[in-house]
Order: sequence, then C-alpha cells, then structure tokens
Amino acid sequence: MEKVELSEEDEELLRREARRARPLEACALLTGKLEHGLARVSRVHLAENVEASTVHFTVDPELLLRVAMSAEGRGEELAAIFHSHEGAAEPSELDLRFMRLNPVVWLIFSNVEERLAAYQLQGNSVRRLAIRRPHEASPSG
Ligand SMILES: [Zn+2]
Repeated sequence: MEKVELSEEDEELLRREARRARPLEACALLTGKLEHGLARVSRVHLAENVEASTVHFTVDPELLLRVAMSAEGRGEELAAIFHSHEGAAEPSELDLRFMRLNPVVWLIFSNVEERLAAYQLQGNSVRRLAIRRPHEASPSG
C-alpha cells in the first residue's frame, strides 16, 4: 500500500476512542477495499483492548474473525489495524513483531502528539503511508 483513505468522521471517531481509553491503549479494526496501492477504509469497528494495558493491545480473536467475515460478505477485507500510544505515533518493537504477523496497514494515534500516522511493513522495512480524505479521489469519480 502507498496511501490510506480515511474519512474525517472515521478519523475523529478513532481520536475520540484514543482519548476515551486513556491511559489504556485503544484499538480498532478498519475494513474496506484495497485497490491500486490504496487502502480505502469504509468502516471502523471499535474493539476492546482485552489486555487492558497501557503499553500493549490485543483484540479478541473472535471479534477479529467476525469483523473479517462480515467484511468478506460485503466484498471487503480487513484493511487496517488501529491502536493508540501514550508515546510517539511510531511502531514499538512489539508492534513491529505483530506487523510481521498482520501485514495490513497499521494506524497509530499518539495522545501526546495528537497525531495519527499510518505504517505498513513491506519486505523488511516499515513504510510510512500518507493518509488522505475520500474527496481527494479522482475528480471524475
Ligand atoms: Zn503500539
């Protein structure tokens, strides 16, 4: 992927969830379509951090399965995984390990920097992805 398409409403939902969950890490599953290097998010599924941790997050595997299956029914897939940090909006060592297992787009929001960033592990390196709004799509629609 090169870019993530996320609506302002969905980004606001993620920011609110990150603030609400403090000091725990918030998490969410984002589904949508992957096309031409673009991860187009169409739904945000807020998830409980079952670890209830300030430095780690875990999504209930049953929820992950349900969300992935319902996305598949709509011709979509798991497009991104979101979580929040009390530190920088950058993947931690542990995040990097899980990015290997789940090579989707990872969105990280920093409550201290008030910043949302997107990453994906591509080969052996972490690539920073641009986040754009749906209306920036091709003008012809
Ligand atoms: Zn993290």
